[in-house]
Amino acid sequence: MPKYLNGHIIGIENEAPQTKRFFVKVEDVEKIEFKAGQFVTMELPIHEKRLKRMRSYSIANAPDGSNIIEFCIVYLNGGLATTFFFKDAKVGTELKFKYPAGVFTLPSVIDHDLVFICTGTGVAPFRSMIQYIFNNDIPHKNIHLIFGTRYKEGILYKKEFENLTKKHPEFKYTVTLSREEDWSGEKGYVHAVYKKEYASPRSDIRFYLCGWSMMVDEAVEHLKNMGYDDKQIRLELYG
Ligand SMILES: Cc1cc2nc3c(=O)[nH]c(=O)nc-3n(C[C@H](O)[C@H](O)[C@H](O)COP(=O)(O)OP(=O)(O)OC[C@H]3O[C@@H](n4cnc5c(N)ncnc54)[C@H](O)[C@@H]3O)c2cc1C
Repeated sequence: MPKYLNGHIIGIENEAPQTKRFFVKVEDVEKIEFKAGQFVTMELPIHEKRLKRMRSYSIANAPDGSNIIEFCIVYLNGGLATTFFFKDAKVGTELKFKYPAGVFTLPSVIDHDLVFICTGTGVAPFRSMIQYIFNNDIPHKNIHLIFGTRYKEGILYKKEFENLTKKHPEFKYTVTLSREEDWSGEKGYVHAVYKKEYASPRSDIRFYLCGWSMMVDEAVEHLKNMGYDDKQIRLELYG
């Protein structure tokens, strides 16, 4: 098996002012095998040293038997990879990446409620997992996606998740905005949401946390202080 897969960008869509969706067709395989929640590590043309060229991105869509994968990437001011994605990458741009990897995936049997907590593009692996569960009728309990960002315009995949709540009463979607004035929904950070909703510890919940370390580290500490066990918490750190 070759170490790297090759692919090229077949579509780019604006999802929020600083966030784009990149659709990539993998060239070497007819169907790309991965588990919902996994990521790929890309080698990007951004530095002369190989190790400094590597960046990981969660796959934002579910495995669907095709060779197309989606990434949801936020621009970071001065960031090498994100500058490449936002300024240089276009339809046709070739990408080289390792096989999907990572253990931030669903259990083989979903016999607990799932609470997915994220900010910004940390939603990517959860979108993959949620699509996977609903598209394949995977047996599950309640699923609660808690998404945080600063302003309304930064809400990612909003319509899609709202539509899922209409079809699946066991799917709950909470958006909390930390800086928006004009918003009737939850305000503040994601922490306030799960602290309120899951205040009394329950053994039948699994928390999945994804995003930048500040949010994830704080959430782990809060959940433990609330009485939840390490075994109930899984996480994916973006940096
Ligand atoms: C498993 C995994 C999956 C990932 N999936 C995604 C994904 O789906 N989408 C996505 O957008 N990113 C994702 N990332 C992050 C991604 O790999 C890069 O780190 C990110 O795109 C920044 O790369 P860059 O080269 O532009 O920035 P760099 O040139 O590496 O530098 C950016 C600098 O800013 C800091 N920084 C980065 N982000 C933030 C932030 N939000 N707030 C504050 N400081 C920050 C970094 O620590 C660094 O010092 C993932 C990371 C991992 C490990």
